[in-house]
Amino acid sequence: MNLKENKPTISAISTSLGSAAIAVVRLSGAMALEIVQTLTNKKEFTPRVATLCNIYDLNGELLDEVIVLYFQAPLSYTREDVCEIQCHGGTIIAQRILELTLECGAVLAQNGEFTKRAFLNGRIDLSQAQAVAKMIEAKSIQAQKALAKQLKGELSVFVQNARENLYEVLAYSEVMIDYSDEDLPQDLILKLSEKIDILAGHLEKILTHSLARNGIFEGFSLCIVGKPNVGKSSLLNALLLYDRAIVSNIAGTTRDTIEELLNIRGVQVRIIDTAGIREGQDEIEKIGIAKSKECIQKSDIVLALFDSSDFLDDEDREILELLNNQKNKKIMIVLNKSDLSQRIQEDEFVGYDVFKLSAKNREIDVLLQVIGDFVEQSDSGEILLSNVHQIESVKNTLASLKQAKVELNQGVLELFSYNIKDAIESIGSITQPYESAELLDKMFGEFCLGK
Ligand code: GDP
Repeated sequence: MNLKENKPTISAISTSLGSAAIAVVRLSGAMALEIVQTLTNKKEFTPRVATLCNIYDLNGELLDEVIVLYFQAPLSYTREDVCEIQCHGGTIIAQRILELTLECGAVLAQNGEFTKRAFLNGRIDLSQAQAVAKMIEAKSIQAQKALAKQLKGELSVFVQNARENLYEVLAYSEVMIDYSDEDLPQDLILKLSEKIDILAGHLEKILTHSLARNGIFEGFSLCIVGKPNVGKSSLLNALLLYDRAIVSNIAGTTRDTIEELLNIRGVQVRIIDTAGIREGQDEIEKIGIAKSKECIQKSDIVLALFDSSDFLDDEDREILELLNNQKNKKIMIVLNKSDLSQRIQEDEFVGYDVFKLSAKNREIDVLLQVIGDFVEQSDSGEILLSNVHQIESVKNTLASLKQAKVELNQGVLELFSYNIKDAIESIGSITQPYESAELLDKMFGEFCLGK
């Protein structure tokens, strides 16, 4: 069945609305050229050549002077015939042209439908389609760089190699299934085991790295923790450069958490202020305590505050305890109130990065410098997974590989093969999911209109 014949020609405004120099109305499908010919009253369009022409409404009244770009299938974004009409910007003209294309038989494209067609017609795989969607919303230059690599197929190549490796493992396993236990060639078993270890090791590395650097896509989160009165609100205010939180010297004033967005060197950082971590006497404080613990868990950067003008007490130690064994986070110890004489013993913080400052006097330059270096960290060259679907696929692959190893060590080759097949399916779902049509609709529905 020829899919194209059954698919309507779609049309959408691909630029954002508002006063701008130009706007683009894009059409994709078998009728794209015919519709443009009708509206421009012009027959000849050379593929990939910008053609200046007039566009008219259906009564023949002149609407605008436009540039038409015609991309003949399959050399187009969707692999279908695509026409782009560049008209003058603003809210009226593009909207009117869109309406006319609909009157001529096109249907309004759904969110992400152009990219979905590019995917369904095999021009790009899912990871590349998702890179397109994310790029539009990229929150940092680092994210944009990582997504450009994904769009160029870096992740696709990795997935392809991983699948080939696993297919090879599967082939050996299938051959050996008929061997009796005693005849199993142990050197081959060892080789398969090593192959799996290498792949699993690489996947682990990619996963850890991606989880730690997820902030470049979603923004990083930073929390400020410390017992009451150490200066959390003062530090938050210094960071935000204006009084957002109430500063007071009554213990436990900041009852709930406060969130603010900061932009540090072009990367979004969400700051969460907490209510102090201590065993609270009343209900409200208990909520604050639970939240503080939770905030550390979900933050990429933790600023743990201590009052340097005082000795470390049990409440402070409780906070230090919470910082133990936190992986993939940037933990910074801040000894606040450096304008007062120091009582705190610095050797209590061995192994941590320690910063002495006065939040009240807004001495936060060094702190901002270090946070900036962390969020801006240069590209390590490692592959970055950019969304939940990719992360879940890698986690599932790792789980199947782990189970496969157990079966291999016990010589149960049928189950080994079964788990390797699962691993192949999971890793493959990053680029070519065996998902239902509804799921694809959902994935592409998150795109913006006209993409
Ligand atoms: P929080 O309960 O941890 O949020 O602490 P606050 O920010 O409300 O500060 C508690 C008290 O410490 C207030 O009286 C602040 O003015 C004071 N304070 C905060 N930072 C400093 C500092 O750097 N030096 C001095 N001397 N006092 C500070």
